[in-house]
Amino acid sequence: MNHPAPAAAIRPRRPFPAELLTALQAAFGDRVSTAEAVRAHHGRDESPFDPQLPDAVVFACSTEDVRTAVTLCARHDVPVIPYGNGSSLEGHLLAVEGGVSVDVSGMNRIVSIDADDLTATVEAGVSRKTLNDALRDTGLFFPIDPGADASLGGMAATRASGTNAVRYGTMRENVLGLTVVLADSRVVKTGTRARKSSAGYDLTRLLVGSEGTLGVITEVTVRLYPQPEAVSAAVCAFPSMGDAVRTVIETIQLGVPIARVEFVDALAIRAINRHSNLALAESPTLFFEFHGTEASVKEQAEQVQSLAAEHAGSGFAWATRPEERSRLWNARHNAFFAMLQLKPGCRAVTTDVCVPISRLAECVVETEQDLRGSPLPCPIVGHVGDGNFHVAMLIDPARPDELAEAERLNRRVVGRALRMGGTCTGEHGIGLHKMDFLIDEHGADGVDAMRAIKHALDPRNLMNPGKIFSYTA
Ligand SMILES: Cc1cc2nc3c(=O)[nH]c(=O)nc-3n(C[C@H](O)[C@H](O)[C@H](O)COP(=O)(O)OP(=O)(O)OC[C@H]3O[C@@H](n4cnc5c(N)ncnc54)[C@H](O)[C@@H]3O)c2cc1C
Repeated sequence: MNHPAPAAAIRPRRPFPAELLTALQAAFGDRVSTAEAVRAHHGRDESPFDPQLPDAVVFACSTEDVRTAVTLCARHDVPVIPYGNGSSLEGHLLAVEGGVSVDVSGMNRIVSIDADDLTATVEAGVSRKTLNDALRDTGLFFPIDPGADASLGGMAATRASGTNAVRYGTMRENVLGLTVVLADSRVVKTGTRARKSSAGYDLTRLLVGSEGTLGVITEVTVRLYPQPEAVSAAVCAFPSMGDAVRTVIETIQLGVPIARVEFVDALAIRAINRHSNLALAESPTLFFEFHGTEASVKEQAEQVQSLAAEHAGSGFAWATRPEERSRLWNARHNAFFAMLQLKPGCRAVTTDVCVPISRLAECVVETEQDLRGSPLPCPIVGHVGDGNFHVAMLIDPARPDELAEAERLNRRVVGRALRMGGTCTGEHGIGLHKMDFLIDEHGADGVDAMRAIKHALDPRNLMNPGKIFSYTA
């Protein structure tokens, strides 16, 4: 063991009866696996935690498959861990009590694209890139873009966002409805394709962000957007992080409808240059993207360029051709893996705080000062238009002292964000790693209210147990 999961998540494994395996094999044939390699792949995510293997993996192809797997597991009191694309970062997928990983990546049908209503319904295993490929000839697109090519079910389950959230919102704003298999095997459809509804409790919003702890999502209905008539992108370097971030704050406060604005610090720029063969200046940098009509894109860009100049931004470089833009944004999307190459063999402990935009400069600058005193390489990137930024603390997984240092820094970053009225996680979710911070953020009574919902919908704690909060107070 190099990097065991946090203490709260070290739990006794539940028995996995032979009768359950026999029943799963009868139902799924070669779509159930107990092979060590398959279980190892499903018992980990992109967090630095050591894997904790499920007892078996079922590859589901339909809502009915998921219902069957959940029914059989419930009959034997065995946990179910929904699995999308495995790209989560907080230990979400570790089978801390054992159980069956239900992999929905084979549920990859586009159910419908309703161009006139600007909606699409997809099976939960469809990835964001697959959906956008299917939309290519419709003039529409789906904007939510976590760095990984995550599944729509996983994105709904983690309430994901990405570089476009500053303009288009997160999964919270963009999921209209879900089909979900609950712990007692009932199949429930939430929401409609209408753009709004006041009909009862909002089960869609409850399930979005539930991290697999309330049910397995099998279908997702999302909003789509017209592809903008004009798009332009730019990069601009700044003498300091504070200058870069203040440019962003003023851009947002002025109401410029910017589509993307990403911060990348000097160390992360070095990593990106090496990884993507670019030659960007190794200084704190903002990546911008503007969407709209030709005239509005020009106007937005001029406004932002003049704000950047007031903060000593230099070398404002434009990328208007689609291939230049893709090169720039692919480089930004690959930043996580580029940063890992700064320290061969390392894993990243990532922070994910989000603060009110007015406190962003203070939070980033204090964090930068804090990190300067640390022996760990800690590049910073962020979706700063939302007040959200990530520190990737690069640790040698064989060095407990490095892990302890990363966790010390992590606690300080989160403490600072909470003091400033922010959250411990803007987009990655709680998983295992941030369970203590959830209590700091919402208070014991707030977490108790969440626990009451979990008890009502999953009284035997079958769905992804040991995540978000402990089942007993
Ligand atoms: C390089 C990189 C960059 C990233 N950038 C971002 C970013 O910018 N923004 C962001 O938000 N995230 C980001 N992430 C994190 C990750 O991509 C998201 O959390 C994503 O939403 C996870 O989707 P997935 O399909 O991989 O889910 P998984 O990792 O498979 O699962 C994540 C959680 O959702 C549950 N789950 C999965 N599928 C279902 C389902 N069908 N029903 C119910 N529960 C389910 C799982 O049980 C688990 O708890 C990044 C990750 C990496 C590796």
